Amino acid sequence: MRLPSTTPVLVVGGGPVGLTLSILLSAQGVDHLLVEARTGSSRHPKARGISARSMEIFRRCEIADDVRDAGLSASSVFFFRGKSLVDPDFTRTGVAAAEGPAVTPTPGLICSQDVLEPLLARRAGDRVRFGVRLESYDQDGDGIDAVLRDVRTGETHSVRTSWLVGCDGAASVVRAGAGITMSGPTGLGHFLSVRFEAPLGKVVADRASASYFIAAGGGFLAVDNDRQWIYQYPSEKNLSAERCTELVRTAAGIDDLPVTVQDTMVWRMDAQLADAYRSGRVLLAGDAAHTIPPTGGHGMNTGIGDADNLGWKLAAVVNGDATERLLDTYEQERRPIARQVIDISSDNARARGGYQIDDQLLLSAVYGSFAAGCDDPTGLDAAGYRPCALPGRRLPHMELADGRSTLDLVGPGFALLCNQEWFGARQVAVHDVEGLYGLPAGGALLVRPDGYICWRTDKGDSAALPDVLARVLGG
Ligand SMILES: Cc1cc2nc3c(=O)[nH]c(=O)nc-3n(C[C@H](O)[C@H](O)[C@H](O)COP(=O)(O)OP(=O)(O)OC[C@H]3O[C@@H](n4cnc5c(N)ncnc54)[C@H](O)[C@@H]3O)c2cc1C
Repeated sequence: MRLPSTTPVLVVGGGPVGLTLSILLSAQGVDHLLVEARTGSSRHPKARGISARSMEIFRRCEIADDVRDAGLSASSVFFFRGKSLVDPDFTRTGVAAAEGPAVTPTPGLICSQDVLEPLLARRAGDRVRFGVRLESYDQDGDGIDAVLRDVRTGETHSVRTSWLVGCDGAASVVRAGAGITMSGPTGLGHFLSVRFEAPLGKVVADRASASYFIAAGGGFLAVDNDRQWIYQYPSEKNLSAERCTELVRTAAGIDDLPVTVQDTMVWRMDAQLADAYRSGRVLLAGDAAHTIPPTGGHGMNTGIGDADNLGWKLAAVVNGDATERLLDTYEQERRPIARQVIDISSDNARARGGYQIDDQLLLSAVYGSFAAGCDDPTGLDAAGYRPCALPGRRLPHMELADGRSTLDLVGPGFALLCNQEWFGARQVAVHDVEGLYGLPAGGALLVRPDGYICWRTDKGDSAALPDVLARVLGG
């Protein structure tokens, strides 16, 4: 096992959240190491719904096109309800309708986790080491000593790091090591996920959907809406391939359907939130910080949002541009969002399929912190996403004269969007957005590397910019 003996940042877990964080850290020029215990990507397609906000982040990571090419188009994001797949009296509902002009250049889509992860891993490159498990770690005031194990050879290796990020899922070793507890109910349901192959493409051709709820219980989740499927069934225990085949045939309403069961996974629905996102030099992201019922498809997407929020802040601290205070805004900005998403998803679970896919929910997150220049409380807008070009809000998407989105002006550093290039500021990239966002002459928006507005001025007070940046960076 050839691994460095020191690294500024050690990311544990190469699921979608850890891999996204790795890509974002690399974009910020931060040296780091990501260790993943599995020897390859997930085999079971757990998450499939990638929401608009995640796709915006992937667009910044330059992998949105690959994800779109690998997934099902947004036009098949429907919920089907019927007695079986062949029920002539089926109903179908779509994504919660958005009014007005497009609010994002990247609407959500279906791309299953086992397909997504290799795309992310390829982009993350050689900072990712598969087959390496974090065994334990000790934290002192200056850093962390971590013990890693090569899962193939059993060999151990010590690495010293300044920051440890636990993206190691619901049973997080990092979280346990930091003594961070979780609160909230567990065991809201137990499900068997059967991954199988069957020629169902023609059967669903006139009713193509993302999820197919079957009245008697259970349902189908489309992987490619053709031959690759998941059948989800309420069960606390694994069942034989023969029994799974029987269940699939009954739910499909086709007695002689040729079914090949590929693998099965039993999982438990929890609704838990970590009581803290940081302990000293240890930070948590994704399922390590929150377990969100999959009803609504927000679990992975919330984790990807964590990675986006944390990536630039950690980079700013590691690069010496920000004080550690900036890292406290990570919990301040992300934990209340996870709290709300857990509650919304738990309500969806109780509605037993009687809910809509809200692709824009995570676009509506408002961050209340000094790093966002906003005193409003952090939270999601229950009334739905409404574009707003004020501090604490995601920079609204607007189309530029050359056809790009204003979101393409975001990152890797801070961006200043203004009417005239008179700021001449060196710490930020200056972009002329003449006539957009209602900015008067001399007005400007300062946008963080994660696409959040952290300052708005309607007058030409360029002299204020250094102080604003220092404040946002925790100075
Ligand atoms: C049936 C189902 C359907 C779902 N559908 C959706 C959906 O449509 N949309 C959505 O947004 N979410 C969905 N989710 C939730 C989603 O799967 C999770 O939120 C997501 O996987 C979390 O990603 P993560 O990277 O935080 O953690 P994980 O995907 O759990 O990855 C953690 C990684 O850390 C590794 N690891 C653990 N311990 C160690 C260690 N000590 N050392 C090294 N590596 C370690 C693990 O091997 C794993 O690869 C669904 C979940 C389920 C079960």
